[in-house]
Amino acid sequence: MSRANDEYDVIVVGAGAAGLAAAAQLSRNGKSVCVLEARDRIGGRILTVRPRGAAIPLELGAEFIHGESPSIFEQLRLAGDVAVDTAQTRYRVPQPGRMKRSEDLFETMKERLKRIPKPRVDVPFAEFLEKHRRQLSPTVRAFATMLVEGFDAADSTRASAIEILKEWAGGTAADAPTFRPQRGYGALMDSLAGSLDPAKTCVQLECAVHEVRWRRGEVDVAYTRHGEPGAVRAAQAIITLPLSVLQLPALTPGSVLFTPTLPRRQVPLSRLLMGPVVKLVLCFSRPFWSEIDDGLHRDVAFFHAQGAPFPTFWTSLPVRAPVLTAWSGGPKAAQLLARNTDEVLRAALASVTEIFGKRRDYRKMLEAVYWHDWQSDPYSSGAYSYSGVGGGPAKKQLAKSVEQTLFFAGEALDVEESSSVGGALSTGQRAAKEVLTG
Ligand SMILES: Cc1cc2nc3c(=O)[nH]c(=O)nc-3n(C[C@H](O)[C@H](O)[C@H](O)COP(=O)(O)OP(=O)(O)OC[C@H]3O[C@@H](n4cnc5c(N)ncnc54)[C@H](O)[C@@H]3O)c2cc1C
Repeated sequence: MSRANDEYDVIVVGAGAAGLAAAAQLSRNGKSVCVLEARDRIGGRILTVRPRGAAIPLELGAEFIHGESPSIFEQLRLAGDVAVDTAQTRYRVPQPGRMKRSEDLFETMKERLKRIPKPRVDVPFAEFLEKHRRQLSPTVRAFATMLVEGFDAADSTRASAIEILKEWAGGTAADAPTFRPQRGYGALMDSLAGSLDPAKTCVQLECAVHEVRWRRGEVDVAYTRHGEPGAVRAAQAIITLPLSVLQLPALTPGSVLFTPTLPRRQVPLSRLLMGPVVKLVLCFSRPFWSEIDDGLHRDVAFFHAQGAPFPTFWTSLPVRAPVLTAWSGGPKAAQLLARNTDEVLRAALASVTEIFGKRRDYRKMLEAVYWHDWQSDPYSSGAYSYSGVGGGPAKKQLAKSVEQTLFFAGEALDVEESSSVGGALSTGQRAAKEVLTG
């Protein structure tokens, strides 16, 4: 339908999973919606590429479905897609080049943690581990730290112990069943965008929002498109900006100014943190990991080398492709991000050598590398959120609407499936429902 500058029932800021889910629900219910997106594409932190010759969709952002996420499974159903079970066999590398099948440390860790009273006052996770060093062996402590850094992309000296323990007791922890959308997350976003009623919805790309001017029942959103100013008006707005954008001090580059300001949101915003991740998709000429040691590792899904700059690698199993993904999260990722791209790639190949030994010329076998720097991308400034000390109540506080006029959604605000696509979709649907039932 119409272009921006018209009036709508609702403006949605951001066309990631949360924004598209909100727009889809509003449009299904007859609301006119304008989605304003800064990038030249939809999907936000979902970025699926399919280079010529690539046998599988390559995910530079979100890839896995953690646990049986109802919102994702429903979206898959609507998209006519299915979830593929990810293989779970894990090997760890206690010493360079020496691989060992990983015993179930998660179960052991959970067992030990059950015997420890939960902290009543929140502390950094590292402090919690230190306090209980007698009950938790060095192996369990090292494993717990690796999980917090690798899975939650968190700094264990800043992450909330209460929230980490809560996550590990829930259904989306690192030991939950894991899947991938068969056609990739990008196809899921395309299907969501395709479900918007074209007569009622307008998705405006390359519109970087810089101000949300509001009063009860009226919102004016100002943006810049190709250097030109623009504005749209609606009765209500759903804001799905990433945490890092919301945390920027007013009037700094990339920030979004709320007029009048929203002072009650400042404290909860400061209790959440954005974690860094470096994810490299390495395309080799051959799947060498399934050939070495007489094929012993051909059914391995994950390789972990705790000391390496990239402590985790995964294969594309159950699909067989010569693609290995290198993953580093939390403080290790922050260190990598201080280096240039060549150095990051060198660190990835050094990590490959640490895991598989010097048995091949890995650089020669490497045909292509794909990655996206989410940290220096101003529209994400990080990978995903985690709770800092005392951050437990922050998500609910930030999810509260303001005067039935401003509504908020996005992965950082979800309590059930935090930091994930499932969480982002749920918050978008929740915000749309609040608008509709107002
Ligand atoms: C490397 C990586 C790996 C991940 N792996 C997984 C995984 O395996 N499984 C999983 O579930 N999750 C994973 N995630 C997390 C997942 O991608 C996010 O939680 C989810 O996609 C967030 O959706 P969202 O809609 O809340 O935010 P976003 O996708 O960030 O959407 C917000 C939108 O707002 C736009 N925007 C920003 N600023 C402005 C502005 N000023 N004006 C207008 N628009 C603006 C952005 O461009 C973006 O499109 C991963 C993330 C990364 C980075």
